[in-house]
Amino acid sequence: SLLLAIESSCDEMAMAVLKDQREFLSSVVASQIDIHAMYGGVVPEIASRKHVECVSVVLKETLKQANIKMEDLDAICVTKGPGLVGSLHIGLQVAKTLSLAYDKPLIGVHHIAGHIYANNYEKDIVYPALCLVVSGGHTELVLMKHPYSFEVIGETLDDAVGEAYDKVGRVLNLPYPGGPVLDKMAHLGKASYALPKPLDDDSYNFSFSGLKSAVINLAHNHKQKGLEINQNDLATSFQNVVVDVLVDKTIRAAKEYGVKEIMLAGGVSANRGLREKMKEQVDMLEDVQLSLPPMKCCTDNAMMIALAGKVMYDNNKFSDLSLGIKPHLDLELESIGGD
Ligand code: ATP
Ligand code: MG
Ligand code: FE
Repeated sequence: SLLLAIESSCDEMAMAVLKDQREFLSSVVASQIDIHAMYGGVVPEIASRKHVECVSVVLKETLKQANIKMEDLDAICVTKGPGLVGSLHIGLQVAKTLSLAYDKPLIGVHHIAGHIYANNYEKDIVYPALCLVVSGGHTELVLMKHPYSFEVIGETLDDAVGEAYDKVGRVLNLPYPGGPVLDKMAHLGKASYALPKPLDDDSYNFSFSGLKSAVINLAHNHKQKGLEINQNDLATSFQNVVVDVLVDKTIRAAKEYGVKEIMLAGGVSANRGLREKMKEQVDMLEDVQLSLPPMKCCTDNAMMIALAGKVMYDNNKFSDLSLGIKPHLDLELESIGGD
């Protein structure tokens, strides 16, 4: 099969062409990070305007790199949600227009299913699997007993991990987004600041707003007293606490549900500290393997939407032209078959 995938849920306009299981003929990501960095975060109104400006160029480039024509495609996959309303609209409208004009089936993909299926990039996911989804807007543990079946066994009660990273980054006056910068700094410092361990209970839920506030208060208190804060040490202290709770709960859930594979997904799965600690802990489990998405598949891209869309394509899960965007789409309801 030959699939075109379109992703525009936030501030990236991305497209990719997937041939069969995992051969990518092209992948283009038009990022707006430079623009939103001036505001310290994504400005939705600007994101959708920029999408309108670049969408045709991205499509042209994606087809050119793949050396194919629209006529060659078997289907068009597009992120239908969750995400920013204005941003989602651009990608979906383009997908529907192409679907109508070239008479190609349309496949609406859940953005987080896309992040999870980035783990199909190198080899097939082994089920039952457990995925720790850590992104800018989501932090959840997803149990997959079968292909494309999703059970959310725990989630954040407040901030997502990526959001906490970015807010801490903003308080420390780091360039946006704070996540990757803090990750680098965390490898240069030592954990000299005592921070509260976030929601260390026997549920699989998470909470990061208390930790975030503790870091922000610490920074403010130092400033008020005219004391210099060691930013690298604070980054290390923050990252250690975050990574510990994420890895602990994932490993405990993996044991309880007897999964064969543990996966990471979402932008924060690029985090070096998280990847290292998870690997160390999974290595100690018997008969459980770890899957880490390749770095270029961690933050938003269209390859991941194509990989999830491919499973839907193989299961004949097509949408008609009445498909609308779903800013708050439930992942579990996207499950195909299984229980
Ligand atoms: P969602 O997928 O929940 O809708 P999103 O698409 O905005 O949210 P992603 O693109 O998946 O989010 O990830 C972006 C987030 O990942 C940002 O918060 C960014 O700071 C964070 N991030 C990226 N790299 C790293 C890293 N190395 N360490 C920590 N955080 C990181
Ligand atoms: Mg983004
Ligand atoms: Fe995302």
